[in-house]
Amino acid sequence: MKYFSTRGGDDLLSFEEAVLTGLAPNGGLYIPKYIPSLPQNWQEDWKSYSFVDLSVAVLSLYISPDELSKDELRALVNKSYSTFRHPDVTPVTKLSDNEFVLELFHGPTFAFKDVALQLLGNFFEFFLARKNARKSPGEQPARLTVVGATSGDTGSAAIYGLRGKKNLSIFILHPKGRVSPVQEAQMTTVTDANVHNVAVRGTFDACQDIVKALFADRPFNEKHHLGAVNSINWARILAQTVYYFLAYFHVRAQIPRHETSEIQFVVPTGNFGDVLAGYYAKRMGLPMGKLVVATNTNDILARFWRSGRYEKVNSSPDAAPANGTQADGGVQATLSPAMDILVSSNFERLLWYLAYEASSATPDATRRSSAGATIDAWMKSVKRDGRVEVPADVLELARRNFLAERVSDDQTLETIKQYFIGNPSYIADPHTAVGLSVARILATKNTPSVVQVILSTAHPAKFSEAVTKALATSQSFDFERDVLPQEFRGLLEKERRVIDVDEPSEELVKKVIESKASL
Ligand SMILES: *Cc1c(COP(=O)(O)O)cnc(C)c1O
Repeated sequence: MKYFSTRGGDDLLSFEEAVLTGLAPNGGLYIPKYIPSLPQNWQEDWKSYSFVDLSVAVLSLYISPDELSKDELRALVNKSYSTFRHPDVTPVTKLSDNEFVLELFHGPTFAFKDVALQLLGNFFEFFLARKNARKSPGEQPARLTVVGATSGDTGSAAIYGLRGKKNLSIFILHPKGRVSPVQEAQMTTVTDANVHNVAVRGTFDACQDIVKALFADRPFNEKHHLGAVNSINWARILAQTVYYFLAYFHVRAQIPRHETSEIQFVVPTGNFGDVLAGYYAKRMGLPMGKLVVATNTNDILARFWRSGRYEKVNSSPDAAPANGTQADGGVQATLSPAMDILVSSNFERLLWYLAYEASSATPDATRRSSAGATIDAWMKSVKRDGRVEVPADVLELARRNFLAERVSDDQTLETIKQYFIGNPSYIADPHTAVGLSVARILATKNTPSVVQVILSTAHPAKFSEAVTKALATSQSFDFERDVLPQEFRGLLEKERRVIDVDEPSEELVKKVIESKASL
């Protein structure tokens, strides 16, 4: 399998190259040359597969065996998911015959990004080790210095994915004192020698600007082999397709009339990585209804499916910041912060498929380059004007596979409460609650044969503020007893390792990297 950029060009990359490169030089994202279809008898053969078995089965369709044998792949997958606390890795919880929750938060940092980042860390380590084994004595070993900025969530999942990995170091910048105490503790209590937390006195945006400047600094970048682990990395999307398959089999086994039922996946969405993985599963042939994009009031995606306009500025009258505060640049701070985005980086991948389908150019090579040129033009327009409007036929195609809805913070809190007092009682984190809210909205329009599967993206203890706020008036709720996992107890008192940088300065951060990167 080869990979090419959504913005065109003739480059075809191997899986390894696509994973190590991340973003294409022309600004595009890598997608596979074709979407493989499922092998005959997959329903029968795969139905009692474990998460690891399913990972090998699905991922090997996207990775050439001469790049990674099935045995090598299995070893990497096994190692990656042995860090999860649940034997199913991503277990399914039944709330009713028509409603299931797919829990993605049983990894080391209690959030869904672990599913992809645990595997990505092992891919990086494996590819670097193999490059080095092929080098002659005395040659510079291949290394990667991962640099990123975080406002909390991604940083800790990335740190746990890369800790202790050979030939790799990771520097995560966070705004000092501006991430939640639990998230700060999760990151800074990792004391592996290759992990460097950098607390910058400044804002998250200042941290992000520093990271951008480092990547743009050619000599510095080349000297340290900077790498990123952001959500556009192809390996992250691929790793996430697996739990759609697991959920399909586990849900089917638990519903009475599964032959006539249709699964509706509902996905709390920010950068469109999680739901895009579902789209690949659907295109491969996994039976499901339309995928549901659930957003908070940062609703660029929900507005796209309403209007066909992909537009940064939140101009619709009902989208006024009712609860959230309008921050710089138009992002609203909501109770589901991991979904607070202005644009969705992975959406570009879906747009490519839509542009390709809408094109009538022949032969296929021409149709592909026409789609690449279209995406290049659309993305330039988003960058330049903050918006693009797709033709009606493209919107029509987008509506064939997706539904989208947005919910407010008030609805999110109300939903946490409703599910807590429900039977069975379920405590949802605010991101999951966005999904649950949307599921309830759609359930009123669904036929009885639809079974909803809501993706749960974080453990409620990670977002204690919102959960406590929602359940403050519930007599029977006790945060320590009902939510707080064993692993979080005593976390705040553990030994920490953090490097303070007293002003948001690129030069100071460079000095930190220079002094530590070779260790
Ligand atoms: C990242 C994240 C999301 C959004 O996922 P995308 O792939 O960016 O759409 C939702 N919930 C939580 C808790 C997250 O960390």
